[in-house]
Amino acid sequence: MINTCGSLRLLRKAWSRCSSTVSQSYNLPLNFVNGVRTDPTDPTSEIMNVEEPATGRLLKSVPGSGQGDVNAAVENAKNAQEEWGQMSGTERAKFLFNAARILEARQEEVAHLEVTDTGKPIWEARFDVQTAIDSLTYYAGLAPTICGQHFNLPNGSFGYSRREPLGVVVGIGAWNYPIQMAGWKSAPALACGNSVIYKPSQFTPLTAVVLGEVFAEAGLPDGLYNVIQGGVKTGEYLTNHNDVAKVTFTGSVETGTKIMTACANGIKHVTLELGGKSPLIIFEDADVDNAVNGALMANFLTQGQVCSNGTRVFIHSSIFEKVVSKLVARVKAIKHSDPHLDDCKMGAMINAEQADKVLGYINRARNEGAEILAGGELVQMEDAKLRGGKYISPCILKTTDDAEISREEVFGPVMNVYSFDSEDEVLIRANDTKFGLAAGVFTKDLARAHRCVANIKAGSCYINNYNIYPTELPFGGYKMSGLGRENGTVTLEYFTQLKSVYVESGDVYCPL
Ligand code: NAD
Repeated sequence: MINTCGSLRLLRKAWSRCSSTVSQSYNLPLNFVNGVRTDPTDPTSEIMNVEEPATGRLLKSVPGSGQGDVNAAVENAKNAQEEWGQMSGTERAKFLFNAARILEARQEEVAHLEVTDTGKPIWEARFDVQTAIDSLTYYAGLAPTICGQHFNLPNGSFGYSRREPLGVVVGIGAWNYPIQMAGWKSAPALACGNSVIYKPSQFTPLTAVVLGEVFAEAGLPDGLYNVIQGGVKTGEYLTNHNDVAKVTFTGSVETGTKIMTACANGIKHVTLELGGKSPLIIFEDADVDNAVNGALMANFLTQGQVCSNGTRVFIHSSIFEKVVSKLVARVKAIKHSDPHLDDCKMGAMINAEQADKVLGYINRARNEGAEILAGGELVQMEDAKLRGGKYISPCILKTTDDAEISREEVFGPVMNVYSFDSEDEVLIRANDTKFGLAAGVFTKDLARAHRCVANIKAGSCYINNYNIYPTELPFGGYKMSGLGRENGTVTLEYFTQLKSVYVESGDVYCPL
């Protein structure tokens, strides 16, 4: 998930001026409460083993944070929010613009830390940090615009609405886009006058806490943005806390269901960004080279571990062989290397468990009759220091719509290809999924492109591109892919609540 193609040129200039020193900040405490890094004071029995995916090296083991840590963070967040929520949007904006500038100055360092934490190539990590900077900048700009409405009522009376903060917002993230998620959740929440407690995935705890340092340096009040590390137990302490007003979650459908249940029990606001199994349709009149590039973007960023990936690629039968042979040639040329290197194309899977899960899907697909056209194997790395990591060669397979691998989210570098004959047929097949996160259409016939996206049940649709996420465009799912939206102006509504005020200008009429 990258922001915009146009930013790439500007970023290249900036990178050339940056140093590429890898931060050793993982040696420091990883919670961030009341403006400082701390260790848990009430540890859970869950131990977080923080590994570097590229090498398999254990960076550190830390316990998860317990109820006492969560209580302390919520108390601090509550206190900090009172004053922050009273500020004008313009005042809040100044802090957030500052934070954007400071994060930009640390972009290269944070990007390398993200590579250490996730195993993704450095060029992608730079984009991820950029998306967090963009979110801070965008919501800083919107903060002063947050307002209610005025209503004229009979006899000189009137009403108005106030758009007010929710209070303490909990963010819980997945492991594939850690800094992006911390930015995308905290920037709008803070712009709207809330405080934030963020829990990154237990597999990728390193960069959300650096964002805490950035906020502190930008002058945000202590306690306004906190990071609490831990796994399932810590997440449950956070989502069940009575003083939390909202949970904004990114992760699996399974966990999203549990989080929605916890929020229902406490009548809390909830946003859910969940999984996907998205279709990408390539019509016979498509620009083939662009469509091939789009299909690669739709499947192999972050080693295929992307929620919005267009993993079901439907290709018109008249160009099927041509497109597939180009895809196979391109995919076979993708080589893995040290993800910290500028020319790295593909990095390591997040961990051995995820690699086994992906290889399990590929093996079962093969047994079910799928034709493996490329990749799908564990790669033995030449570089000795990378041999502890798990690298999977990008896979293309030809299969049927009802195969397990066509229906389940694999979350790895696996593209399924299918042939189709007509628009009506492909739309039915594209929509035949419990998910509805994203979809793409490649065609030169723009009337057809708009007709298709109007008929596809998915929250983010692309015409002649894929996996581009500018801050301005709302992002989120239909069906089991989620509820609510991130990015765009609409997100201000998800982090505020409305108060209506009636003002009487005459006497009180009372027939009693
Ligand atoms: P996950 O659901 O296993 O975990 C996500 C987070 O939830 C982690 O921080 C975890 O510690 C926490 N958690 C787990 N159980 C919890 C509980 N009972 N209460 C509170 N918190 C709990 O997901 P994952 O494996 O980290 O990420 C992969 C999934 O995330 C995929 O399904 C992917 O599609 C999805 N995802 C969605 C988006 C999106 O924007 N739609 C983006 C990225 C990833």
